[in-house]
Amino acid sequence: MENNKTLKGGEFLVKETSYENVFIPEEFNEEQNMMAETTREFVKTQVLPNIDKIDNHDTALLKKLVKDAGELGLLGISVPEEYEGFGQNTVTSMKVAEEMGAGFSFVVAYSAHTGIGTLPILYYGTEEQKKKYLPKLASGEYIGAYCLTEPGAGSDANSGKSKAILSDDGTYYTLNGVKMWITNGGIADVQIVYAKINDDKNLSAFIVESAWDGITIGAEEEKMGIRGSSTVQIYYENVKVPAENLLGKRDGGFKIALNILNLGRLKLGGGTVGAAKAVITSSINYANERKQFKTPIAQFGAIKHKLAEMVILTFAAESLTYRATQNIDDAIEAYIAEGMDKGKASLEGLRQYAIEASMAKVYGSEILDYVVDEGVQIYGGMGYSAETDVERAYRDSRINRIFEGTNEINRMVMVGELLKRAFKGEIDVLSPAKAVGEELMGIPDFGDTTQDYFELKKKALINFKKAILMVAGAAVQKYQDKLQNEQEILFVAADMLMLTYAAESFMLRVEKLEHMKGADKVELQKLMLDVYIYDTAAKIKKFGDDAVNSFAEGNERMGMLTGMKRFTKVDGVNVIGARRKIADKVIEENKYPF
Ligand SMILES: Cc1cc2nc3c(=O)[nH]c(=O)nc-3n(C[C@H](O)[C@H](O)[C@H](O)COP(=O)(O)OP(=O)(O)OC[C@H]3O[C@@H](n4cnc5c(N)ncnc54)[C@H](O)[C@@H]3O)c2cc1C
Repeated sequence: MENNKTLKGGEFLVKETSYENVFIPEEFNEEQNMMAETTREFVKTQVLPNIDKIDNHDTALLKKLVKDAGELGLLGISVPEEYEGFGQNTVTSMKVAEEMGAGFSFVVAYSAHTGIGTLPILYYGTEEQKKKYLPKLASGEYIGAYCLTEPGAGSDANSGKSKAILSDDGTYYTLNGVKMWITNGGIADVQIVYAKINDDKNLSAFIVESAWDGITIGAEEEKMGIRGSSTVQIYYENVKVPAENLLGKRDGGFKIALNILNLGRLKLGGGTVGAAKAVITSSINYANERKQFKTPIAQFGAIKHKLAEMVILTFAAESLTYRATQNIDDAIEAYIAEGMDKGKASLEGLRQYAIEASMAKVYGSEILDYVVDEGVQIYGGMGYSAETDVERAYRDSRINRIFEGTNEINRMVMVGELLKRAFKGEIDVLSPAKAVGEELMGIPDFGDTTQDYFELKKKALINFKKAILMVAGAAVQKYQDKLQNEQEILFVAADMLMLTYAAESFMLRVEKLEHMKGADKVELQKLMLDVYIYDTAAKIKKFGDDAVNSFAEGNERMGMLTGMKRFTKVDGVNVIGARRKIADKVIEENKYPF
């Protein structure tokens, strides 16, 4: 990919980006804002009034709502025009996913259909397959599902036992097996089913129609949350799948499954941002209304702290997610300019930013869990009542850390991909890591005494990156090819990496905003950034110290602990004052304020 605007996936660790090269949510164009408005209206007028019914397993109503979304054009956003969709870019579909995120369990049905249920055909289908299925999936005439997980094969998805045996005349496969936890399974017309052909090493993918003989759809699972999304087991008993319904290459299904998940993960990040904003709005509505000790509870410092923190974390997740999404769109365009067809370019773009997609998923799902938890706390006893939206939001949030690859698997993807790219020489991590080592041996440079706001933040971020390079470099040297067995160290590296990327995305957004709107319009965002960088420094230090204390000894350990202190040193911040001002803005607007 030759695109000097955009860093390659993972390269942020060793290179800086200019604010001019990141996309921020304040830059949506008119068309994107219109689509967002349509989605908001749809959620408000059709999804939310029906949420109790769909959460009580009214699957006919769920199906109708998905089809209604299709009529509004919300299912075909990423489907090219030649297949009767709208051919919009990833940023646009992300904005719609974000707005849908306020729709509780409905967002799960929506995302499974538009993402993992539709895109395998778009990216890997033959022309005939695309013509046959995509227009119907884009309109909502067909609903899609993605059937990878089995009772014995979850995180280790390629170990699935489902089998497809090719007939002697080569015209059809006989499919047998069981799939589990299938979203939309109870309402889907088309399923992407993964199974091994004969004794192949890897899965293959098939387009299967739910109406075919031999398919039994199990009962709806009784779940902790997202109860309105259909989740079932599906049984395949001697199902005849026409040979032309093999999707992509034989033995290539596992690759399809993983590549499609890159997009699923990214979109999940957007959905969690939308859900978090909605919970913040209902929390502040309640906190402004509810009085105790003759005072609206929003006026108490403890509640202000919560509100401010909820907003800061959501702003960080949003900045991270849209930055990564635009990077993917830029990469897709660059690949197309090099002569790649759009489907392949899209896959390559997503693969290129697999690290960032995993970060969007993990960060978004974890900040949402924090936000819903504090939301329930702000509601007090009412937060525990099934009558309130925060109670539903609390239960619905939890799944996000489990599906689309658990957060443990995604943390390993972040670090594993980065190391792979470093070893292949795609990203030069070695020279900067060596430079950090040399810097540690030398005398600290106190020469740079800049007082410029953004320069200081950039300096802090460069130092966070040095902290990561120091820990990761030493861990690679110590464990070499056994590093993959040291999951605790990998997880520390993943968290340091993710927090740094989030902090950098936050900073670049605020810097860009200042250039767009003027310094007097971003005072609050700067306060939020101050708090975020200050907190991130402390977290990175804790993660780094834990790792160093666990695997280094003697002088090496002392040297690295000193380095960790140096690389995470940031100016003190009046975090209480800053959070109060941020909360006051939320209180005044009585909604998520950005
Ligand atoms: C509501 C819901 C909807 C779903 N929708 C779909 C769908 O539409 N299609 C589909 O195919 N699947 C779907 N899934 C399945 C989902 O993707 C899996 O549940 C998930 O991938 C985890 O697999 P598992 O449940 O078997 O857990 P396991 O893989 O058994 O994991 C259990 C725990 O062990 C950890 N673990 C596993 N391996 C490792 C490792 N190597 N290192 C460290 N930790 C590890 C996990 O992180 C987790 O904490 C859905 C699940 C749910 C609950």
